[in-house]
Amino acid sequence: MQPRIGFIGLGIMGEPMAGHILRNGYDLTVHNRTASKAASLVESGAREAASPVELASQTDIIITMVSDTPDVEAVVAGPSGIIQGIRPGSVVVDMSTIAPAMEKKLDEQLQTVGCTLVDAPVSGGDIGAQKGTLAIMAGGRRTDFERAKPVFEAMGSTITHCGPVGHGQLTKLSNQILVSLTLLGVCEAVLFAEKNGLEPEVMIEAVRGGAAGSWQLSTLGPRIARADYAPGFMVDLLQKDLGLVLEAGYQARVSLMGTSLVRQLMSAAQSMGDGREGTQVLARVLKTLAAPRAEPDC
Ligand code: NAP
Repeated sequence: MQPRIGFIGLGIMGEPMAGHILRNGYDLTVHNRTASKAASLVESGAREAASPVELASQTDIIITMVSDTPDVEAVVAGPSGIIQGIRPGSVVVDMSTIAPAMEKKLDEQLQTVGCTLVDAPVSGGDIGAQKGTLAIMAGGRRTDFERAKPVFEAMGSTITHCGPVGHGQLTKLSNQILVSLTLLGVCEAVLFAEKNGLEPEVMIEAVRGGAAGSWQLSTLGPRIARADYAPGFMVDLLQKDLGLVLEAGYQARVSLMGTSLVRQLMSAAQSMGDGREGTQVLARVLKTLAAPRAEPDC
């Protein structure tokens, strides 16, 4: 028999992800802190629960997709959290991007009530969530992963079991290192091209099929060239993730100098009021650094 699925957190990512689960024929119960965001899923046939505890008492696999580490902790282990109502044998699947250490802590707490956790953060952005083509990086016991896999298949196209609890998040943080440093390279290359009189779009077209090709170059490069900084993936969210990367790097005693540089440059973007712009706004920070001074010093 198909498991009954609960889904908590119907934001930019969660709402379309839950929609795919429903369209794949699962019995779905949803909950969102701001109840109005559940309306369209309920109209399409999902049940609604008034709280995480109520949702947990009616479902077998409980997915969370909320913002940050304290939010997942509140939803899972808070006073009206999942753990207060979860039935023994159920699995919590956290798909938010949060601290790996918190996933281990919550797994330990869930074990005291006969349950377990899989951490399964995603990559692919809002478009991947809408198309059901997310990359899903899961950490947890193999049996729990196999149990959740058919549900993952409703939401994603690349699904990987990365190791024990916490390893999904560590894989996602590796992904964010790659994303950040590739983006910095794309921004520098476009600026360099512009400053040397090249047409940035022509440069991108010329190199994207070679060794420098990447998703960041093909997708964000043309946006940078036309100064389109609309999100996509916001600077504020990347900064949350880079904070998690640097903390995990510190714990593992590994120097992440490139990532630290991008974090500082993104802090400048936030200072300039661009925290809610897309991450490609990094190009505007570099442009500002390369601009001549408007007026001489007094
Ligand atoms: P979002 O649109 O801001 O949605 C966040 C959701 O979490 C909302 O449903 C919000 O409820 C809920 N929430 C936040 N704090 C809560 C709390 N303390 N208690 C209960 N509910 C809470 O964010 P998103 O873009 O969907 O991102 C969700 C997660 O996916 C984040 O960890 C993010 O880093 C990760 N992610 C995002 C992207 C992307 O491109 N956006 C890509 C990959 C991964 P309300 O509606 O009441 O505010």
